[in-house]
Amino acid sequence: MKNVADKISALKRNGHKVLGCFPLYPPMELFYALDLVPVVLWGLKDAIKSTAESDRHLQNYTCSVARHLTEFVLTEGSGMLDGIFMYNACDTLRNLPEIITNATEESGRVLPLISIHIPMALPEQTDASAYFKYEINELITTLEKRFSRMFSKEKFKQVVIKTNQLRKLMADAEKLVASGTIGFSDFSQAIHACWFSTLEDQSGILEALIAGGKKGESGGQGERTGVILSGILPPPASVIEAIESSGLTVVGNDIASLGRAYASMPQVSDNPDSYFLDFYYQHFPCPTLLYSGDRRTTSLFGLVDDSGAEAVIFIGEKFCEYEYFEFPFLSKQLNDRGVKTLEIEIDIDDDAHTSAHRSRIEAFAEMLKSTPTH
Ligand code: SF4
Repeated sequence: MKNVADKISALKRNGHKVLGCFPLYPPMELFYALDLVPVVLWGLKDAIKSTAESDRHLQNYTCSVARHLTEFVLTEGSGMLDGIFMYNACDTLRNLPEIITNATEESGRVLPLISIHIPMALPEQTDASAYFKYEINELITTLEKRFSRMFSKEKFKQVVIKTNQLRKLMADAEKLVASGTIGFSDFSQAIHACWFSTLEDQSGILEALIAGGKKGESGGQGERTGVILSGILPPPASVIEAIESSGLTVVGNDIASLGRAYASMPQVSDNPDSYFLDFYYQHFPCPTLLYSGDRRTTSLFGLVDDSGAEAVIFIGEKFCEYEYFEFPFLSKQLNDRGVKTLEIEIDIDDDAHTSAHRSRIEAFAEMLKSTPTH
């Protein structure tokens, strides 16, 4: 998303306190309930011209997600954010708080860092719920003090209801992508725009997207082959164009910044610690939530069965070990069920070099069309 800085500037002009969040699934409902606007610092590729500052602190074999967010926080975003929130996820992100804190201090700036630890043990093996609830309640106390706010259960519940409505709108828009009336590129840009917007603005973005898709519904679709995309981020626009122009339709997604982020619908509650216990432990599986690993295959099979997809395309984020460790196993499981798979790897500067991806996608699409469905 090119206008990340503009969007954050607009939030600031409207008097909002903005919290930069990473990694993937922050407790956003809590921030909204305290009148803070969380912005999830992923998908920044189009907003970052170079990673010169980040490269002073991170090795060049770090994934693009970490390099882009570090660059943004240390340069353009540094004066815009009122704080940084993070929880533990992958090894790459684990030491980023210290790196960012030291770098901002070196340059004479102050950027408050707020963090929690999410226990990654399997709940069936180790009951860490008391510790987790303690972390959430400490977070509320920290935020109240830091931003002079007062937590209200009623407001939290309203935000939870609203957030669930937005998740449903995102899922509705995904169905229009599957029917071919919304392009996957427009869809992923709109969802990413939501991660940098207030709740009210998110409604507007999604309703406009859905209204545009419904207008095109009467057009009818030719013979299409359904695929699911799986990965941390959606592929670059040029790769999406290659997929769609090869006659493939994205009928579902297992993308961390898209489907994995909105697929879960936790129970409405005014109690933040039990709400987030449900949110994190019943979350749509993602390799970064280690305890969800055992449910990963089942959820992918479910996506394939529900959508009628004939294939899964894995969008590998280069150097993301969490995703890469699972690709061989998932591919084998899917292939054994007759579902074809393709892996493509996206590097930090792959926007400019996608012709090899295009050739592989076109060959894969041809192969799917000439092979009987499973
Ligand atoms: S892409 Fe992978 S390695 Fe990079 S921050 Fe996300 S989970 Fe971590």
